[in-house]
Amino acid sequence: MKIPFFRPSIGEREIEAVTSCLRSGWLTTGQVTRDFESEFAAAVGAKHAVALNSCTAALHLALDAIGLQRGDLVLVPTMTFAATAEVVRYFDATPVFIDCRPDTLCIDPAVVESTLEALDAGRAVAGLQPPYGKVRAIIPMHYAGQIAEVEAISRIAKARDLAVIEDAAHSFPAAYRDDSGEWRSVGASADITCFSFYANKCITTGEGGMAVTNSAEYADRMRLMSLHGMSRDAWQRYTAAGSWYYEVVAPGFKYNMTDIASALGRVQLARADELLRARSEIARDYLELLAGIPGLQLPRARADRRHAWHLFPIQLDVKVWRQGRDAVIEQLKERGIGTSVHWQPLHMQPYYRELFGYQPEQFPVACSLWPKLISLPIYPGLTRPELEFVAETLRALCG
Ligand SMILES: *Cc1c(COP(=O)(O)O)cnc(C)c1O
Repeated sequence: MKIPFFRPSIGEREIEAVTSCLRSGWLTTGQVTRDFESEFAAAVGAKHAVALNSCTAALHLALDAIGLQRGDLVLVPTMTFAATAEVVRYFDATPVFIDCRPDTLCIDPAVVESTLEALDAGRAVAGLQPPYGKVRAIIPMHYAGQIAEVEAISRIAKARDLAVIEDAAHSFPAAYRDDSGEWRSVGASADITCFSFYANKCITTGEGGMAVTNSAEYADRMRLMSLHGMSRDAWQRYTAAGSWYYEVVAPGFKYNMTDIASALGRVQLARADELLRARSEIARDYLELLAGIPGLQLPRARADRRHAWHLFPIQLDVKVWRQGRDAVIEQLKERGIGTSVHWQPLHMQPYYRELFGYQPEQFPVACSLWPKLISLPIYPGLTRPELEFVAETLRALCG
């Protein structure tokens, strides 16, 4: 059996949509992208959506939109992908790493609070020296597809006038129950929420991303900066509705999404619930099949969350398993099972370690969890026999 870590779910409708875009004569950002944006905004319940060529671009433009300046501070998880923190460095600003909760691996609001208090008081904060810059934003990331404690984080942010930018690369569609018991979609409430349509994300455009917000001001700024800081985009310039005239009002970037990608994205968006249902069923099967394997901690969907199940990360208790995580990954690979690790915490990566002089144990939860983590394959199309094979293989390796 050969079970890759990921296989995209691309059907005839996606192929049809892309070829029809190719035949239309309009390839770059145009009406198809505008349609994708309005459909995506409606799907998450946000007023505005800006389609971009990656989630990294969305995070970058979000920080630009809130006016991040050199020397400012932004709170980011250490247990996240490189993109979440690198965008802060684009501004020569400082990512302040925050440890994760042991149960969800999302940013820990208690650590957010204690870090902010330490910064206020000019006390020591891992890797940083006072005098500290101004704290401007918090970027929670929804690990594996389970939404972080967004309400606690939003309360902390409001009290200090900080922006909340969600890294929702793993979480579409996903929802949480708010304090009043109402279900709210990820993307409906943060200042700006950034989604990824990278090949292995919940829905894909090959490469792509979306920034959503309820603020017209943020949306306008992100749209402007996504295309060279030009006051009108190509579609508006070259169609009868537009004119040839534009003004360059800022040194922008080249982050726009093509209509080819949007054509793919619109079909994937229409299938998002179906794809989520398939992932949820796989998660349910894994939870049943892997139960009882000693020394294995399984992910748990909280009752007040609709988990997007982008990843299925398990934790090996290396004391119970006779071999380490890396050896287990190697043996799974030999038996045809592809896995991945999300992630080595960023404070342990050479760039940040050298820049800030971090010690691994300065973020004890992330540091102790990462040697245990293995992400198992989870995507629509995985069959019950394939899942049984993964479970049997793990059971055999454990013994
Ligand atoms: C994939 C990912 C990103 C980056 O997405 P791109 O669309 O590839 O730029 C950002 N954050 C997290 C947590 C991710 O997993």
